Amino acid sequence: MIEVRGLTKAFGETSVLRGIDLTLEKGSVLVVIGPSGSGKSTLLRCLNVLEVPTSGTVAIGKARLEFRPDAKPRLADVLALRRQSGMVFQAYHLFPHFTALQNVMEGQLTVRRTPKREARAKAMQLLAKVGLADRADAYPHQLSGGQQQRVGIARAMSIDPELLLFDEPTSALDPELVREVLKVIRELAEEGRTMMIVTHEMKFAREVADRVMLLDGGAVVEEGPPEQLFERPREARTRQFLSLIM
Ligand code: ADP
Ligand code: MG
Repeated sequence: MIEVRGLTKAFGETSVLRGIDLTLEKGSVLVVIGPSGSGKSTLLRCLNVLEVPTSGTVAIGKARLEFRPDAKPRLADVLALRRQSGMVFQAYHLFPHFTALQNVMEGQLTVRRTPKREARAKAMQLLAKVGLADRADAYPHQLSGGQQQRVGIARAMSIDPELLLFDEPTSALDPELVREVLKVIRELAEEGRTMMIVTHEMKFAREVADRVMLLDGGAVVEEGPPEQLFERPREARTRQFLSLIM
């Protein structure tokens, strides 16, 4: 289970997250929607501790960390929490000088200290899973955007995280490449992976989400099952947002 309580993040004077609470059952999918600048990326980055939250508690798997505005968290605690989640970014976050295979091996070698042979075997397995067994030796620039994102997904999974985080994984892709990436994510949902997905693909969101959350101004406006949020939203702000994008 993933639990977040009272999560805040400020950059200097600017409050970007204003006390987020969320609970995510193991094996379920939470889709996060919201206007540009509402704090979606910052929320995901805080869970992966790419940004250090200002305050609040984050518990993922066996790791639990309470952040305080007046104390820096211990590096060991940050690393322990970071290992619980794998992040798939908007685009082009692969190491350009590494092959697809090396990109998927890297986290295992550095974070998990897996022996090289084992890391290679597992990377090959993951590349096969995302449909790229035959492109293992290709460099990112030799792959399409959709293929690069699928390598990114394999890489995020390579350290066996409790939680997979997707930050607009298809928004930088040409339309014809979106489908192959969504297909892989849909398969992961069917397998029962615990995931948080920021996306503007509303049809996809309805299909894969167990819960949907609307963020606005760094706060949760409404959270619920997709049928409620999309068809019977409680909040006027939710209706207004949906009318703009659907
Ligand atoms: P979203 O992903 O929903 O578009 P973000 O989380 O990227 O929103 O950003 C939320 C707000 O935080 C924006 O106003 C953005 O300008 C601000 N912000 C994000 N990252 C930083 C940063 N590193 N420094 C200062 N402000 C930031
Ligand atoms: Mg964003």
